[in-house]
Amino acid sequence: KRHMPGSLVTYTRDLDTLVRAEQKIEVELRSLNVENDLYVCVQPISKSTTGDIVGGEVLVRWTNARLGPVPPHKFIAVAERSSVIHRITLSVIERALKILKQLPENFSVSVNISACDLNSPDTMERVLLAVRESGLDPGRMWIEVTETAVMRDVDSAVDALRKLRRAGMKIALDDFGTGYSSLSNLHRLPLDRVKIDQSFASELQDSYSNSIALAVVSLCQTLQLSCVAEGVETGEQAASFRAMGCELLQGYYISKPLPVTQFLALASSTGGQ
Ligand code: C2E
Ligand code: CA
Ligand code: CA
Ligand code: CA
Repeated sequence: KRHMPGSLVTYTRDLDTLVRAEQKIEVELRSLNVENDLYVCVQPISKSTTGDIVGGEVLVRWTNARLGPVPPHKFIAVAERSSVIHRITLSVIERALKILKQLPENFSVSVNISACDLNSPDTMERVLLAVRESGLDPGRMWIEVTETAVMRDVDSAVDALRKLRRAGMKIALDDFGTGYSSLSNLHRLPLDRVKIDQSFASELQDSYSNSIALAVVSLCQTLQLSCVAEGVETGEQAASFRAMGCELLQGYYISKPLPVTQFLALASSTGGQ
C-alpha cells in the first residue's frame, strides 16, 4: 500500500517514527554517564589570510550501547528538556579546558552552550569555577551561543553572558543569519565574535546571500567583532570570505572535526601563529 508523499498519513507516520526515536533517546539519556559515554572531537579554525590554525571548536559525541552513535543534532534538543544538558555542557567544558592546557598559548577553543545553561545560575557558577580553577587564561575560552537561545529570555541571557565576559571569557554568536537574526543584535548583545552560518558558504554564488554575508562581515569590522565563516567546503568559498575580509574560517575545506589527539598533533605542528 502506497501513500501520497506529503499526505496526512505520511506525515503522521513520520511524526510517529520521530517521536519514538526521541523517546528512545530520552530513555537512554536518563542513564547517561557523561564520563564514559561522551567524548569530544575538535574542528580546527584557521586564519583566512595565512591558513594557520589558531583554535578549534569542541564538539560533543555520544555512542550509546543500544542506539549506537547518536549525532548531537538528535540528542542535544532532547537533553535540553531535562537537567542532563547541564551535565553534558559541564563535561564538554572540562574536556575543552584539558585540551587548552595542551595547546600552544596562542590557541583558543570554543564550546557550545544552550539557552537552558544560560538560565541556570548553578550551571553558570560551575562554568566560572571550572575556568578559574584551570588556571588558564579565560580569554582563550570561547562560549558559543545561538541567537535563538539568547532571544528566548534576552534579559537573563544577557546577564549570564556579561558574567562570563567579566570573568574574561569570550562570547561568539553562533549560526548567525538563521532564526531570529537581526543585525541590531550584533551591538545589543555582549559579543566578541560572530559565526556566519554555513548556509551562507553554500549559497555564496547567489548574489543576495553574497551581499548579506559581505554586509555581516563589514558590520563586524565596524563593531570590532571577530568573524568566522562556518561550513567552508571549497577553496572558492574560502577565497570569497577572505576577499570580504572575514578573519577566520571553519569547515571541511580546512578540516573535518578531528579526534583530540589528532587536533593536538596538528596544533603543535603549526604552533599557532
Ligand atoms: P554547530 O555549533 O553549528 O557546529 C558545527 C557543525 O557543523 C558540526 O556538526 C560540524 O561537524 C559541522 N560542520 C563543520 N564543517 C562543516 C562543513 O564544511 N560542511 C558541513 N555540511 N558541515 C560542517 P556536529 O558536530 O554534528 O554538531 C551539530 C550541532 O550540534 C552543532 O552545530 C551544535 O549546535 C550542536 N552541538 C555540538 N556539540 C555540542 C555541545 O557540546 N553542546 C551543545 N549544547 N551543542 C552541541
Ligand atoms: Ca557552534
Ligand atoms: Ca555554527
Ligand atoms: Ca549549525
